[in-house]
Amino acid sequence: MKYIYGPVKSRRLGLSLGITLTPYKICSFNCVYCQLGRTTLQAHERKEYIPIQEIINELKLWFFNNAQQAKNLNYITLSGAGEPTLNIKIGEVIIEIKKITALPIAVITNASLLNMPSVRKELCNADLIVPSLDSVDLTSFIKIDRPKEEIKIEGIIDGLVNLRKEFKGKVWLEVMLVKGINDGLEQVRKLKEIIDKINPDKVQLNSPVRSTAEPQVQAVDKKRIEKIKEILGERCEII
Ligand code: SF4
Repeated sequence: MKYIYGPVKSRRLGLSLGITLTPYKICSFNCVYCQLGRTTLQAHERKEYIPIQEIINELKLWFFNNAQQAKNLNYITLSGAGEPTLNIKIGEVIIEIKKITALPIAVITNASLLNMPSVRKELCNADLIVPSLDSVDLTSFIKIDRPKEEIKIEGIIDGLVNLRKEFKGKVWLEVMLVKGINDGLEQVRKLKEIIDKINPDKVQLNSPVRSTAEPQVQAVDKKRIEKIKEILGERCEII
């Protein structure tokens, strides 16, 4: 299989079958903590990076060959080897997946394109969106996510606020904490103000445990993560 991977077990999604909508590793960010390594093509342009008919054919084949295993799945997840919303056909992919399976569809995104109304509209048939927002402080946002220059933190925040207003499914906001970059308590208080505006169903705190794009990246210690959770309030959980 070229575009389908897993099933992968995770604490937040249970057992999910992954689909990548971009080749390795096309992304609008180049996060210091990325488990996939450094971004090879940093892109902002949306196009059909992988022909969606090939993805759908592969998915049909997977379900045909794995009928028994499919019964244990909790989600189909669009994520993979890059930023899935860069694929301009993501909306069509979601519609086509719904014709193959009744499983809920999760989209894991870095939120960089959510300020585009067309992107939010294309995601409207998903069941769960897991966007990330690591910092609202410009310096640390740039330091941790290393976005393509066209991408602005204000646009990401607007996109997230509008997504929550328009999207009928669940939104779980992920914050990846990196020691010394975005774990300052003042930064977290600013983040909390914005999170209250976005109003996601959940906020999930994470810190890198596996290999990262930059070797000097360090996880935040447990005690500090607990403190950050306390600041972010009751909808926040540590994953
Ligand atoms: S947004 Fe995701 S895929 Fe892109 S660099 Fe960051 S962690 Fe990696």
